[in-house]
Amino acid sequence: MKNILFVASECVPFIKTGGLADVVGALPKSLDRTEFDVRVILPDYTCIPEKYRSQFHYITNFYMDLGSLGNIYVGILSFELDGVTYYFIDNEHYFSGDKPYGDMRFDIEKFCFFSKAALSILPVIGFHPDIIHCHDWQAGLVPVYLHTLFKPNPFYHGIRTIITIHNLRFQGIWDIKTIQSITGLPLDIFTPDRLEFQKDANMLKGGMVYADRITTVSGTYAGEIQMPYYGEGLDGLLRARHDSLSGILNGIDYDIYNPQTDPKIEKNYSVKDFRKGKAANKTKLQEELGLPVNPDVMMISMITRLTDQKGLDLVAWVMERMLDTEIQFVVLGTGDANYENMFRHYEWTRKDKVSASIYFNDERAHKIYASSDAVLMPSSFEPCGLTQLIALRYGSVPIVRETGGLRDTVEPYNRFAGTGTGFSFTNYNADEMLNIIFYAEQVYYDNRKEWDKMVERGMKADFSWKNSAKEYEALYRSLIG
Ligand code: ADP
Repeated sequence: MKNILFVASECVPFIKTGGLADVVGALPKSLDRTEFDVRVILPDYTCIPEKYRSQFHYITNFYMDLGSLGNIYVGILSFELDGVTYYFIDNEHYFSGDKPYGDMRFDIEKFCFFSKAALSILPVIGFHPDIIHCHDWQAGLVPVYLHTLFKPNPFYHGIRTIITIHNLRFQGIWDIKTIQSITGLPLDIFTPDRLEFQKDANMLKGGMVYADRITTVSGTYAGEIQMPYYGEGLDGLLRARHDSLSGILNGIDYDIYNPQTDPKIEKNYSVKDFRKGKAANKTKLQEELGLPVNPDVMMISMITRLTDQKGLDLVAWVMERMLDTEIQFVVLGTGDANYENMFRHYEWTRKDKVSASIYFNDERAHKIYASSDAVLMPSSFEPCGLTQLIALRYGSVPIVRETGGLRDTVEPYNRFAGTGTGFSFTNYNADEMLNIIFYAEQVYYDNRKEWDKMVERGMKADFSWKNSAKEYEALYRSLIG
């Protein structure tokens, strides 16, 4: 048996703010359990739903020293779900509140504590991992601790580490003095070739320097982040470590996202009867949203965090011109106030064309995926992107910018060859985006047969975890030897 330990700050179904949670929730279940014993360490947030927390099983507690902060309480709880063992690190000072993240300074301290605690509990629970698979900056210090403060302890010898970057934009940066003092890490590792980053300390960078392997969530993004435009200041390090860097695409959970069985949608459908099925979903949603009920009008949607990353400045730029064409535009998202207000404004002034749901609602998301004809995703960068994968599965044609995982998962429509699953444009340019939207509208209205074939190809594409899990398994094997 090969022992694999995941360390992460989010995991479906316990706690989710983004795609990271989907990955950490789905991947352990998808690995071959006859070969890998996979366990997951998470924070015991008090905002995890009570239906799970009430079933957590208390194991023990101890006190762990944390730099200048002295001895700190570490509780250990465990819970088994779908054959995977989860450990939750308990400390109410750090993990209470109604959401996992908040004040950055406090988050830094929180995840310094979490990373060290994750290593400290291993001898206590009696689990010796062959590989610790760390996710994002919140677990970035795990490889650093392992190669410094934990090095003298023979229990930790032979453990290999992987860090997966789900979004390079978030790095966990604070001043060196504070992070050194909280962590108790030796001062001599806060140098530009290790944890130092533009005079500050960078927790993700620490993980990237000390981990045996670095992965990210698509092949294209793995290439892009070695360039200054996408590298967020770490492209030099990534170039230096390119031999240890690879991209493995995320999948989506095909049980949760299945239009044939999804209980959240109005009418279930498959690749065989999607035309009827999607029309029924669309008219029901139009009714719900107060849009004119018409199965024949093209519905374009966005289901997304409303931030710059998602290309909303492009959308803002051409919104008026887009709305002058024969479409309905449906938005579900929260984020920056200026984008939230922009969509509220358009909903108010163009009631016949725009619906804006400015909140987070999973059920509504499923309904929109089932109802839409196209899903727009003009991201400035996109490590993998799950939205377009869900859209494909539900027969909504993705219209995307060719970057990161979008480029790797959406094959551009080619009318001569009769191939492709969506539409894409190259440059981060609003007019280029608008042109491709117009082209999609043209195919939709003037060549519905071709459009439907494209839907069919998209629905048949396989982005389940099966393939990705195989790649992670191969990576684990190559490290364990
Ligand atoms: P990111 O992780 O950068 O936010 P992804 O495309 O990888 O983007 O994942 C976003 C996930 O969150 C998708 O499953 C999408 O459906 C979901 N989502 C985004 N915004 C909302 C919302 N307002 N309500 C419900 N689900 C949402």
